[in-house]
Amino acid sequence: MGRSYESQKRILVTGGAGFIGSHLIDRLLAHGHEVICADNLFTGAKRNITHLHGNPSFEFLRHDVTFPLYIEVDEIYNLACPASPIHYQHDPVQTTKTSVHGAINMLGLAKRLKCKILQASTSEVYGDPSVHPQSEDYWGNVNPIGPRSCYDESKRCAETLFFDYHRQHDLEIKVARIFNTYGPRMHQADGRVVSNFIVQTLKRQPITIYGDGQQTRSFCYVDDLVDGLIKLMESSREFTGPVNLGNPVEFTIRQLAELVLKECSATLPLQNLPLPPDDPRQRQPDISLAKKVLGWSPKVSLENGIRRTIDYFRGVVS
Ligand code: NAD
Ligand code: UDP
Repeated sequence: MGRSYESQKRILVTGGAGFIGSHLIDRLLAHGHEVICADNLFTGAKRNITHLHGNPSFEFLRHDVTFPLYIEVDEIYNLACPASPIHYQHDPVQTTKTSVHGAINMLGLAKRLKCKILQASTSEVYGDPSVHPQSEDYWGNVNPIGPRSCYDESKRCAETLFFDYHRQHDLEIKVARIFNTYGPRMHQADGRVVSNFIVQTLKRQPITIYGDGQQTRSFCYVDDLVDGLIKLMESSREFTGPVNLGNPVEFTIRQLAELVLKECSATLPLQNLPLPPDDPRQRQPDISLAKKVLGWSPKVSLENGIRRTIDYFRGVVS
Protein backbone atom coordinates (compact mmCIF):
# COMPACT_ATOMS: atom_id res chain seq x y z
CA MET A 1 0.00 0.00 0.00
CA GLY A 2 3.08 2.29 0.08
CA ARG A 3 3.06 5.55 -1.88
CA SER A 4 5.77 7.04 -3.99
CA TYR A 5 7.80 9.81 -2.36
CA GLU A 6 5.99 12.44 -4.47
CA SER A 7 2.49 11.36 -3.43
CA GLN A 8 3.35 10.81 0.22
CA LYS A 9 1.91 13.59 2.37
CA ARG A 10 2.63 14.74 5.90
CA ILE A 11 -0.76 14.91 7.59
CA LEU A 12 -1.74 16.40 10.95
CA VAL A 13 -4.60 14.72 12.83
CA THR A 14 -5.71 16.66 15.91
CA GLY A 15 -7.53 14.46 18.41
CA GLY A 16 -5.68 11.52 16.86
CA ALA A 17 -5.43 9.56 20.12
CA GLY A 18 -9.21 9.41 20.35
CA PHE A 19 -11.67 6.88 19.02
CA ILE A 20 -12.20 8.09 15.43
CA GLY A 21 -8.82 9.82 15.14
CA SER A 22 -6.83 6.67 15.91
CA HIS A 23 -8.67 4.70 13.20
CA LEU A 24 -8.13 7.54 10.74
CA ILE A 25 -4.39 7.53 11.51
CA ASP A 26 -4.16 3.76 10.97
CA ARG A 27 -5.73 4.21 7.54
CA LEU A 28 -3.57 7.19 6.53
CA LEU A 29 -0.41 5.31 7.53
CA ALA A 30 -1.60 2.25 5.59
CA HIS A 31 -1.97 4.54 2.56
CA GLY A 32 1.72 5.41 2.87
CA HIS A 33 1.48 8.89 4.43
CA GLU A 34 3.38 10.39 7.35
CA VAL A 35 1.12 11.32 10.26
CA ILE A 36 1.55 13.73 13.15
CA CYS A 37 -1.00 13.24 15.92
CA ALA A 38 -1.62 16.26 18.20
CA ASP A 39 -3.68 15.41 21.26
CA ASN A 40 -3.81 16.53 24.90
CA LEU A 41 -5.13 13.09 25.95
CA PHE A 42 -8.21 14.60 27.64
CA THR A 43 -10.47 11.81 26.37
CA GLY A 44 -8.01 10.05 24.10
CA ALA A 45 -5.60 7.41 25.34
CA LYS A 46 -2.08 6.37 24.58
CA ARG A 47 -3.26 2.77 24.28
CA ASN A 48 -5.16 3.78 21.09
CA ILE A 49 -1.84 4.58 19.43
CA THR A 50 0.73 2.40 21.26
CA HIS A 51 0.78 0.00 18.33
CA LEU A 52 2.23 2.88 16.26
CA HIS A 53 5.25 3.59 18.43
CA GLY A 54 8.38 2.70 16.54
CA ASN A 55 6.65 3.41 13.21
CA PRO A 56 8.97 5.98 11.56
CA SER A 57 6.02 7.54 9.70
CA PHE A 58 4.19 8.36 12.95
CA GLU A 59 4.81 11.08 15.52
CA PHE A 60 2.80 11.94 18.66
CA LEU A 61 2.70 15.49 20.05
CA ARG A 62 1.06 16.09 23.41
CA HIS A 63 -0.56 19.39 22.53
CA ASP A 64 -3.71 21.32 23.47
CA VAL A 65 -5.28 22.86 20.35
CA THR A 66 -6.44 25.90 22.31
CA PHE A 67 -2.76 26.96 21.97
CA PRO A 68 -1.14 27.70 18.60
CA LEU A 69 0.89 25.00 16.90
CA TYR A 70 3.83 25.71 14.60
CA ILE A 71 4.64 22.73 12.39
CA GLU A 72 4.87 22.01 8.66
CA VAL A 73 2.25 19.72 7.13
CA ASP A 74 0.39 19.22 3.83
CA GLU A 75 -3.11 18.50 5.22
CA ILE A 76 -4.99 18.86 8.50
CA TYR A 77 -7.85 16.79 9.93
CA ASN A 78 -9.21 18.72 12.93
CA LEU A 79 -10.88 16.19 15.25
CA ALA A 80 -9.77 17.45 18.66
CA CYS A 81 -12.84 17.83 20.88
CA PRO A 82 -14.48 15.65 23.53
CA ALA A 83 -17.45 14.01 21.80
CA SER A 84 -19.52 12.25 24.45
CA PRO A 85 -22.05 14.21 26.53
CA ILE A 86 -20.39 13.16 29.83
CA HIS A 87 -16.99 14.40 28.70
CA TYR A 88 -18.01 17.57 26.91
CA GLN A 89 -20.21 18.61 29.85
CA HIS A 90 -17.44 17.90 32.39
CA ASP A 91 -15.77 21.27 31.64
CA PRO A 92 -18.12 23.06 29.24
CA VAL A 93 -16.01 26.23 29.02
CA GLN A 94 -13.00 24.16 27.96
CA THR A 95 -15.22 22.37 25.39
CA THR A 96 -16.15 25.68 23.79
CA LYS A 97 -12.51 26.80 23.86
CA THR A 98 -11.40 23.55 22.25
CA SER A 99 -13.89 23.87 19.40
CA VAL A 100 -13.59 27.60 18.82
CA HIS A 101 -9.99 28.47 19.76
CA GLY A 102 -8.92 25.09 18.39
CA ALA A 103 -10.57 25.90 15.04
CA ILE A 104 -8.97 29.38 14.96
CA ASN A 105 -5.52 27.96 15.71
CA MET A 106 -5.77 25.15 13.17
CA LEU A 107 -7.26 27.46 10.52
CA GLY A 108 -4.39 29.88 11.18
CA LEU A 109 -1.92 27.05 10.67
CA ALA A 110 -3.67 26.02 7.43
CA LYS A 111 -3.67 29.62 6.23
CA ARG A 112 0.09 30.00 6.79
CA LEU A 113 0.78 26.67 5.10
CA LYS A 114 -1.88 27.20 2.36
CA CYS A 115 -3.03 23.64 3.02
CA LYS A 116 -6.36 21.82 3.04
CA ILE A 117 -8.15 21.48 6.36
CA LEU A 118 -11.07 19.24 7.30
CA GLN A 119 -13.33 19.89 10.27
CA ALA A 120 -15.02 17.08 12.19
CA SER A 121 -18.38 18.76 12.72
CA THR A 122 -21.42 16.96 14.01
CA SER A 123 -25.08 16.14 13.57
CA GLU A 124 -25.50 18.09 16.83
CA VAL A 125 -25.48 21.27 14.71
CA TYR A 126 -29.07 20.23 13.85
CA GLY A 127 -29.99 20.11 17.57
CA ASP A 128 -33.34 18.47 18.27
CA PRO A 129 -34.36 18.52 14.60
CA SER A 130 -37.81 19.52 13.40
CA VAL A 131 -36.95 18.22 9.91
CA HIS A 132 -36.47 14.51 9.35
CA PRO A 133 -34.21 13.11 7.98
CA GLN A 134 -31.69 15.94 8.25
CA SER A 135 -30.16 17.29 5.06
CA GLU A 136 -27.34 19.82 4.95
CA ASP A 137 -29.62 22.76 4.07
CA TYR A 138 -31.51 22.40 7.36
CA TRP A 139 -30.31 25.11 9.79
CA GLY A 140 -31.15 23.23 12.95
CA ASN A 141 -33.05 23.63 16.19
CA VAL A 142 -30.44 24.22 18.87
CA ASN A 143 -30.89 25.47 22.43
CA PRO A 144 -28.16 28.11 22.91
CA ILE A 145 -28.11 27.95 26.72
CA GLY A 146 -28.64 24.30 27.69
CA PRO A 147 -26.19 21.68 28.94
CA ARG A 148 -25.47 20.44 25.39
CA SER A 149 -24.92 23.97 24.04
CA CYS A 150 -21.18 24.12 24.80
CA TYR A 151 -20.74 21.36 22.22
CA ASP A 152 -23.51 22.16 19.74
CA GLU A 153 -22.97 25.92 19.56
CA SER A 154 -19.17 25.75 19.54
CA LYS A 155 -19.28 23.22 16.69
CA ARG A 156 -21.64 25.60 14.85
CA CYS A 157 -19.25 28.49 15.49
CA ALA A 158 -16.35 26.35 14.22
CA GLU A 159 -18.28 25.78 10.97
CA THR A 160 -18.78 29.56 10.69
CA LEU A 161 -15.04 30.10 11.14
CA PHE A 162 -14.23 27.50 8.48
CA PHE A 163 -16.52 29.19 5.95
CA ASP A 164 -15.23 32.68 6.82
CA TYR A 165 -11.60 31.56 6.34
CA HIS A 166 -12.70 30.04 3.05
CA ARG A 167 -14.44 33.24 1.85
CA GLN A 168 -11.99 35.71 3.35
CA HIS A 169 -8.68 33.90 2.80
CA ASP A 170 -9.56 31.47 -0.01
CA LEU A 171 -8.61 28.57 2.24
CA GLU A 172 -9.46 25.08 0.99
CA ILE A 173 -11.87 23.68 3.58
CA LYS A 174 -13.90 20.49 4.05
CA VAL A 175 -16.65 20.24 6.66
CA ALA A 176 -18.02 16.80 7.63
CA ARG A 177 -21.16 16.57 9.76
CA ILE A 178 -20.61 13.27 11.51
CA PHE A 179 -23.58 11.32 12.87
CA ASN A 180 -23.36 8.80 15.75
CA THR A 181 -20.33 6.61 15.10
CA TYR A 182 -19.30 3.52 17.04
CA GLY A 183 -16.70 0.76 17.04
CA PRO A 184 -13.55 -0.54 18.74
CA ARG A 185 -11.60 1.98 20.86
CA MET A 186 -14.66 3.88 22.03
CA HIS A 187 -13.91 4.92 25.61
CA GLN A 188 -15.63 2.34 27.83
CA ALA A 189 -16.71 4.96 30.40
CA ASP A 190 -17.71 7.83 28.14
CA GLY A 191 -21.41 7.18 28.55
CA ARG A 192 -22.28 6.86 24.88
CA VAL A 193 -25.08 4.48 24.23
CA VAL A 194 -23.27 1.77 22.24
CA SER A 195 -20.34 1.46 24.68
CA ASN A 196 -22.69 1.68 27.69
CA PHE A 197 -24.96 -1.12 26.46
CA ILE A 198 -22.08 -3.43 25.51
CA VAL A 199 -20.13 -2.85 28.73
CA GLN A 200 -23.29 -3.29 30.85
CA THR A 201 -24.10 -6.53 29.04
CA LEU A 202 -20.58 -7.94 29.41
CA LYS A 203 -20.64 -7.04 33.13
CA ARG A 204 -24.13 -8.54 33.49
CA GLN A 205 -25.56 -5.23 34.72
CA PRO A 206 -29.01 -3.77 33.92
CA ILE A 207 -29.22 -1.93 30.59
CA THR A 208 -29.83 1.79 31.22
CA ILE A 209 -32.49 3.14 28.88
CA TYR A 210 -32.93 6.91 29.16
CA GLY A 211 -36.57 7.96 28.75
CA ASP A 212 -38.86 5.46 27.04
CA GLY A 213 -36.16 4.25 24.63
CA GLN A 214 -38.28 5.31 21.64
CA GLN A 215 -35.84 8.08 20.67
CA THR A 216 -33.90 7.15 17.54
CA ARG A 217 -30.31 7.31 16.34
CA SER A 218 -28.57 6.09 13.17
CA PHE A 219 -25.27 4.35 13.93
CA CYS A 220 -22.29 4.35 11.58
CA TYR A 221 -19.42 1.86 11.96
CA VAL A 222 -16.08 3.64 12.33
CA ASP A 223 -14.44 2.05 9.24
CA ASP A 224 -17.22 3.44 7.04
CA LEU A 225 -16.86 6.87 8.61
CA VAL A 226 -13.09 6.90 8.02
CA ASP A 227 -13.71 6.06 4.34
CA GLY A 228 -16.03 9.06 4.14
CA LEU A 229 -13.58 11.45 5.82
CA ILE A 230 -10.77 10.47 3.45
CA LYS A 231 -13.03 10.72 0.38
CA LEU A 232 -14.09 14.16 1.53
CA MET A 233 -10.49 15.30 2.01
CA GLU A 234 -9.67 14.03 -1.48
CA SER A 235 -12.72 15.62 -3.14
CA SER A 236 -12.37 18.46 -5.66
CA ARG A 237 -11.26 21.88 -4.40
CA GLU A 238 -14.71 23.39 -5.05
CA PHE A 239 -16.44 20.94 -2.73
CA THR A 240 -16.39 22.34 0.80
CA GLY A 241 -19.36 20.57 2.32
CA PRO A 242 -20.92 20.68 4.83
CA VAL A 243 -21.69 17.07 4.08
CA ASN A 244 -23.47 14.54 6.28
CA LEU A 245 -21.51 11.36 7.01
CA GLY A 246 -23.49 8.70 8.80
CA ASN A 247 -25.48 5.53 8.36
CA PRO A 248 -29.08 6.36 7.38
CA VAL A 249 -30.55 3.17 8.90
CA GLU A 250 -32.44 4.39 11.97
CA PHE A 251 -33.04 2.41 15.18
CA THR A 252 -34.77 3.15 18.45
CA ILE A 253 -32.55 2.98 21.52
CA ARG A 254 -34.64 0.07 22.77
CA GLN A 255 -33.97 -1.84 19.52
CA LEU A 256 -30.25 -1.24 20.01
CA ALA A 257 -30.46 -2.65 23.56
CA GLU A 258 -32.25 -5.75 22.27
CA LEU A 259 -29.66 -6.25 19.53
CA VAL A 260 -26.71 -6.03 21.96
CA LEU A 261 -28.39 -8.54 24.29
CA LYS A 262 -29.06 -10.90 21.39
CA GLU A 263 -25.49 -10.71 20.06
CA CYS A 264 -24.13 -11.46 23.56
CA SER A 265 -26.74 -14.21 24.11
CA ALA A 266 -27.68 -12.43 27.34
CA THR A 267 -30.96 -11.74 29.14
CA LEU A 268 -30.76 -8.72 31.43
CA PRO A 269 -33.31 -6.26 32.83
CA LEU A 270 -33.86 -2.92 31.06
CA GLN A 271 -33.68 -0.09 33.61
CA ASN A 272 -35.55 3.11 32.65
CA LEU A 273 -33.76 6.31 33.75
CA PRO A 274 -34.75 9.96 33.16
CA LEU A 275 -34.12 11.37 29.69
CA PRO A 276 -31.29 13.97 29.82
CA PRO A 277 -32.34 17.57 28.96
CA ASP A 278 -32.37 18.51 25.25
CA ASP A 279 -31.84 14.86 24.21
CA PRO A 280 -32.84 14.80 20.50
CA ARG A 281 -35.96 12.67 19.82
CA GLN A 282 -34.83 11.44 16.45
CA ARG A 283 -31.79 11.60 14.24
CA GLN A 284 -31.20 10.25 10.75
CA PRO A 285 -28.83 11.62 8.12
CA ASP A 286 -29.91 12.33 4.58
CA ILE A 287 -26.72 11.19 2.80
CA SER A 288 -27.78 12.00 -0.79
CA LEU A 289 -25.04 14.63 -1.07
CA ALA A 290 -22.26 12.29 0.13
CA LYS A 291 -23.51 9.62 -2.29
CA LYS A 292 -23.61 12.02 -5.22
CA VAL A 293 -20.41 13.99 -4.71
CA LEU A 294 -18.17 11.53 -2.86
CA GLY A 295 -19.63 8.27 -4.16
CA TRP A 296 -19.77 7.25 -0.49
CA SER A 297 -22.27 5.25 1.48
CA PRO A 298 -21.76 3.03 4.53
CA LYS A 299 -21.29 -0.70 4.02
CA VAL A 300 -21.26 -2.25 7.50
CA SER A 301 -24.63 -3.30 8.96
CA LEU A 302 -25.41 -2.58 12.61
CA GLU A 303 -25.36 -6.33 13.38
CA ASN A 304 -21.85 -6.79 11.94
CA GLY A 305 -20.49 -3.60 13.47
CA ILE A 306 -21.94 -4.41 16.89
CA ARG A 307 -20.36 -7.89 16.74
CA ARG A 308 -16.92 -6.41 16.00
CA THR A 309 -17.37 -3.86 18.78
CA ILE A 310 -18.43 -6.55 21.28
CA ASP A 311 -15.29 -8.53 20.36
CA TYR A 312 -13.18 -5.47 21.14
CA PHE A 313 -14.88 -4.80 24.48
CA ARG A 314 -14.50 -8.45 25.53
CA GLY A 315 -10.75 -7.74 25.50
CA VAL A 316 -10.92 -4.56 27.59
CA VAL A 317 -13.79 -5.05 30.06
CA SER A 318 -12.61 -6.80 33.23
P1 NAD B 1 -12.88 11.15 21.38
O1 NAD B 1 -13.22 11.84 22.66
O2 NAD B 1 -12.53 9.70 21.43
O3 NAD B 1 -11.69 11.89 20.65
C1 NAD B 1 -11.44 13.28 20.78
C2 NAD B 1 -9.94 13.47 20.93
O4 NAD B 1 -9.67 14.89 21.05
C3 NAD B 1 -9.39 12.81 22.19
O5 NAD B 1 -8.24 12.06 21.87
C4 NAD B 1 -9.06 13.98 23.10
O6 NAD B 1 -8.02 13.71 24.02
C5 NAD B 1 -8.73 15.07 22.10
N1 NAD B 1 -8.88 16.42 22.63
C6 NAD B 1 -9.91 16.93 23.34
N2 NAD B 1 -9.67 18.21 23.65
C7 NAD B 1 -8.45 18.52 23.10
C8 NAD B 1 -7.65 19.69 23.08
N3 NAD B 1 -8.04 20.83 23.69
N4 NAD B 1 -6.46 19.64 22.43
C9 NAD B 1 -6.03 18.49 21.84
N5 NAD B 1 -6.75 17.35 21.84
C10 NAD B 1 -7.95 17.38 22.46
O7 NAD B 1 -14.09 11.40 20.39
P2 NAD B 1 -14.38 10.85 18.92
O8 NAD B 1 -15.66 10.14 18.98
O9 NAD B 1 -13.19 10.19 18.37
O10 NAD B 1 -14.64 12.23 18.14
C11 NAD B 1 -13.68 12.81 17.29
C12 NAD B 1 -14.28 14.03 16.61
O11 NAD B 1 -15.41 13.64 15.85
C13 NAD B 1 -14.74 15.12 17.59
O12 NAD B 1 -14.42 16.38 17.06
C14 NAD B 1 -16.24 14.92 17.63
O13 NAD B 1 -16.91 16.13 17.92
C15 NAD B 1 -16.53 14.42 16.22
N6 NAD B 1 -17.77 13.62 16.18
C16 NAD B 1 -17.80 12.37 16.71
C17 NAD B 1 -19.00 11.65 16.69
C18 NAD B 1 -19.11 10.25 17.22
O14 NAD B 1 -20.20 9.68 17.18
N7 NAD B 1 -18.08 9.62 17.69
C19 NAD B 1 -20.16 12.23 16.13
C20 NAD B 1 -20.08 13.52 15.65
C21 NAD B 1 -18.88 14.22 15.66
N1 UDP C 1 -28.80 6.59 26.01
C1 UDP C 1 -29.47 5.61 26.75
N2 UDP C 1 -28.76 4.90 27.68
C2 UDP C 1 -27.43 5.09 27.89
C3 UDP C 1 -26.76 6.08 27.14
C4 UDP C 1 -27.47 6.82 26.21
O1 UDP C 1 -30.67 5.39 26.59
O2 UDP C 1 -26.87 4.39 28.75
C5 UDP C 1 -29.55 7.35 25.00
C6 UDP C 1 -29.40 8.86 25.06
O3 UDP C 1 -30.36 9.42 25.94
C7 UDP C 1 -29.63 9.24 23.63
C8 UDP C 1 -29.08 8.08 22.82
O4 UDP C 1 -29.01 6.98 23.74
O5 UDP C 1 -31.02 9.34 23.37
C9 UDP C 1 -27.71 8.34 22.24
O6 UDP C 1 -26.87 8.83 23.26
P1 UDP C 1 -25.33 9.12 23.06
O7 UDP C 1 -24.83 9.77 24.31
O8 UDP C 1 -24.64 7.89 22.60
O9 UDP C 1 -25.25 10.13 21.83
P2 UDP C 1 -26.04 11.49 21.43
O10 UDP C 1 -27.15 11.76 22.42
O11 UDP C 1 -24.99 12.53 21.46
O12 UDP C 1 -26.58 11.16 20.10
